[in-house]
Amino acid sequence: MSIQNEAETIITQQYLKMGIQKEVYDFGHSIEAGLKERFEQIDKMAEYNQLKVIHAMQKNKVSAECFNQSSGYGYNDLGRDTLEKVYADVFCAEDALVRPQITCGTHALALALMSNLRPGDELLSPVGKPYDTLEEVIGIRPSKGSLAEYGISYRQVDLLEDGSFDFENIKKAINDKTKLVTIQRSKGYQTRPTLSVDRIGELIAFVKKIKPDVICMVDNCYGEFVEEKEPIEVGADMIVGSLIKNPGGGLAPIGGYIAGKRECVENAAYRLTSPGLGKEVGASLGVIQSFYQGLFQAPVVTAGALKGAIFAANIYEKLGFNVVPNGKESRHDIIQAVTLNSPEALCAFCEGIQTAAPVDSYVTPEPWDMPGYDAQVIMAAGAFVQGSSIELSADGPLKPPYAVYFQGGLTWYHAKLGILWSLQKLYERNLVDKSRMC
Ligand SMILES: *Cc1c(COP(=O)(O)O)cnc(C)c1O
Repeated sequence: MSIQNEAETIITQQYLKMGIQKEVYDFGHSIEAGLKERFEQIDKMAEYNQLKVIHAMQKNKVSAECFNQSSGYGYNDLGRDTLEKVYADVFCAEDALVRPQITCGTHALALALMSNLRPGDELLSPVGKPYDTLEEVIGIRPSKGSLAEYGISYRQVDLLEDGSFDFENIKKAINDKTKLVTIQRSKGYQTRPTLSVDRIGELIAFVKKIKPDVICMVDNCYGEFVEEKEPIEVGADMIVGSLIKNPGGGLAPIGGYIAGKRECVENAAYRLTSPGLGKEVGASLGVIQSFYQGLFQAPVVTAGALKGAIFAANIYEKLGFNVVPNGKESRHDIIQAVTLNSPEALCAFCEGIQTAAPVDSYVTPEPWDMPGYDAQVIMAAGAFVQGSSIELSADGPLKPPYAVYFQGGLTWYHAKLGILWSLQKLYERNLVDKSRMC
């Protein structure tokens, strides 16, 4: 037996030992074999982005001293200040704010908006409804402390039926008050396509032609390191994201970032801490090493998550389910939606993801009433960092069409195991058309 075959055999045996049936494994194996070229392209992109990150760390002379803890005010925190320079370089920005005091992605976005808008200004979303949690930030759903309460108005132009920009109405929506345009890169949990960096560039160029001094902000959540380019390279003034998604590489235990024009970042820093203090204060409390190490890992982690999403799309597409994005199309974020058509299949899928987790694998996820949702929601996650969505996780509302959204996977191998387990659960409950598996 050749060495390769021998390795294949012991891997297969290990899957069987862990509970995956031969039919399920073989089907997955055949799908994976067809993705070789696609995976090679992803590896190339990860290689490029890995070099980009290392280059930024070298250029800014990251040293062991950068990992020292700071406490109290955190004046002259070398690690924090250097990390912000590294982020700025990776994202081609003038400056960046990268802090554990930014609690999540929504907080980072709220901070960027509230610090760069003033009473009387108007915010425009030319790509339709923003992420759910931003509705209360903006005041689309009334909330304490929203932008609306501070006299900042909001306009929205939806994408056209085919997913393209409604240039005519965007032009009409831009007026004297328009100060900031927010562009969400990822589709989040909507059905529109995710925007490529090039398409974001087109939109920014259009907006700037009409109003050159408008601030173009990109919600970069889930998009980092999925492409070679990031939105600032195509004209964005500011990008915003969460460290418990892609750029934290699974290691950052908390945090968010804002990168972009010096003035935009300075406004955000003055709002995060205090006018006059800005970036000068903010102790890093011992998490800074994980921010560095997470960023270092992020290109490879993101590539693993991307492979998982593509693998799942191809598996479930072959089995006759509707998948978004489909098995072939290019990817601009790490989220995969699979329409499972029944509550039983949705629950089985999530149980499979949970079973494959390194943490809490023995628990069974159950549908639950969640604030803000009009149906019960089932969620599967067994993560090292609570709520981390760069780690393998899946969720979906228990209502037609019973779509599951899943994302993440710190390694491709774990993502693969999770998807095989999801299929195993569907398979053993006769919820898939087994004739499609040959
Ligand atoms: C996750 C996400 C957010 C919000 O981030 P949280 O960390 O969940 O607050 C905002 N926008 C998009 C597109 C996201 O994916």
